[in-house]
Amino acid sequence: MSLGCDFSVLEELTSNAKKIQDNVLDKILKTNANTEYLHRFLEGSSDKELFKKNVPVVSYEDVKPYIDRVANGEPSDIISGEPITTFNRSSGTSSGNQKIYPTNNIYFENLLFGYALSSVVMSKHVDGYKQGKMMIFRFTHQISPTPCGLPIAPALTSFTKSKYYSRMAKNSTSPYVVALCPDPKQSMYCQLLCGLVQRDEVVSVGTTFPSVLVQIVHFLENYWKELSSNIRSGHVSDWITDLSCRDSVSIILGEPNAELADLIEKECRQESWQGIITRLWPKTKCIETIVTGTMSQHIPALDYYSNKLPLVSKVYASSEAFYGLNLNPLSKPQHVSYTFLPNMSYFEFIHVDADGEATSEIVDLVDVKLGDYYEPLVTNYSGSLHRCKVGDILQVTGFYNNTPQFRFVRRKNTVLCVDVEPTTEEDISKALARATVVLESSDLILTGFTCYGDISTVPGHYVFYVELKAKVNNGTTVLQLDNKVLVEYCCVMEESLSGIYRRLRGDEGSIGALEIRVVQKGTFDSLMEFFVSRGSSISQYKTPICIKSAEALQVLEDKVLARFFSDRSPTL
Ligand code: AMP
Repeated sequence: MSLGCDFSVLEELTSNAKKIQDNVLDKILKTNANTEYLHRFLEGSSDKELFKKNVPVVSYEDVKPYIDRVANGEPSDIISGEPITTFNRSSGTSSGNQKIYPTNNIYFENLLFGYALSSVVMSKHVDGYKQGKMMIFRFTHQISPTPCGLPIAPALTSFTKSKYYSRMAKNSTSPYVVALCPDPKQSMYCQLLCGLVQRDEVVSVGTTFPSVLVQIVHFLENYWKELSSNIRSGHVSDWITDLSCRDSVSIILGEPNAELADLIEKECRQESWQGIITRLWPKTKCIETIVTGTMSQHIPALDYYSNKLPLVSKVYASSEAFYGLNLNPLSKPQHVSYTFLPNMSYFEFIHVDADGEATSEIVDLVDVKLGDYYEPLVTNYSGSLHRCKVGDILQVTGFYNNTPQFRFVRRKNTVLCVDVEPTTEEDISKALARATVVLESSDLILTGFTCYGDISTVPGHYVFYVELKAKVNNGTTVLQLDNKVLVEYCCVMEESLSGIYRRLRGDEGSIGALEIRVVQKGTFDSLMEFFVSRGSSISQYKTPICIKSAEALQVLEDKVLARFFSDRSPTL
């Protein structure tokens, strides 16, 4: 997919970031200066200096009353000079709380542009990328109306259903209509079937976020016999009742193919599923899915299923705006940085210290400093967000031409706290990565993870829910859990948490022993289904690193197989 983009566009954007950002702000202010929201601060002026002086830095909760008024039927010009065409429903991340963002076509044009440019980058780094096919799984959801009649949906659903996406879908293994199927199970089955039939052309496998990719491998474990039987007979299973899916997939399935069916059965029947992706799709060069931030928890499972193919985190984007691209897509997950695209929105940055506390300095995109930490502020084209905090913490790692590159550090808020310790997403991701070594030494891999702070005990303690899989299926579906290994896993996790956690847990005794609750296979698929049934998008789904909803916790609690506690205090 080039869509008129090439490297010179990237050079041009990143060399003139300051001027482009100036023009973006100019355009946004001229369009929106007379909205009720901005008029309060600017009295109709579109002066940029006045904007910075008078318009307050806000968080979503501050603008929510305006957004809700529009969603409930008041004219959209209270917040936007251009018509609002749809609402993006975000997945939320740390705790799974959802937000809605009014938006218009510029948002989708920006997504298309960002993805097109990232394809240009991929073609430069991955041999044969352009010539091959992408098995990128996409799902869409029912679009429901807000009281004002405008559609509301996860951004990726609206994008995938829009005229913009169909231009991107060309070299995908699945027909476009399959992504539009409202039943995720039929859609997933059909996307796998299309991918298997075209296995020799697939150069890239992926999903936007990795929880879904892990779920797809689980789905394949349950359905490979049926998939290969469809390939053997040249007939799509009768339960695929969505006619658009059925018709388009039948064409791709073609004539019966016993040879391919035999091959799939031979690979899937093996006791170990290590490298199953590369065995079934042997020309795959990379796995395209975002594994920075909390999504890094899926790296061990993806490494295992793909025999350590490069994991490519291509873009950094959200329901508020598209931010940036990874210009070195084959770099290791821990070295990934995103280069901001200055034409996407107007970006400012609150300087924060390493703990995420604001130091009150706010700077423009081109004025951030190497090595420093920032929280981005977005002023977007839809007019609904002005100087709005994104809630992510980024660190500047370098510059491409004049444009800064950022490492995604974490979501801003503390996610676990049972006493006074501020445990962040990054703390948890680091502890998980270190403790993974313990699991690997005993041939287990982590396929699902989340946590919560249990304060019903005295003292309160951390509970980590983990779903595990044996690397080799030793003829039994029962997971062998070695007490020694799992207690050590708890201890290494605690050793890897912050100094303040270790002090409170050790000397002061105000945090209790860390607990691991091992859950049954498929529990994290059920958790995802739970969130999807409440309006989350499959394509945008990220397993919440920390669970706050009692109902979601119940989904996990119902499937606990065994509990383990750390048996010593961490060193200080
Ligand atoms: P949503 O609006 O539901 O798409 O969620 C957007 C949030 O997902 C961002 O604010 C980030 O916290 C997270 N996110 C998106 N892209 C990335 C990325 N490349 N790396 C890490 N986190 C990301």
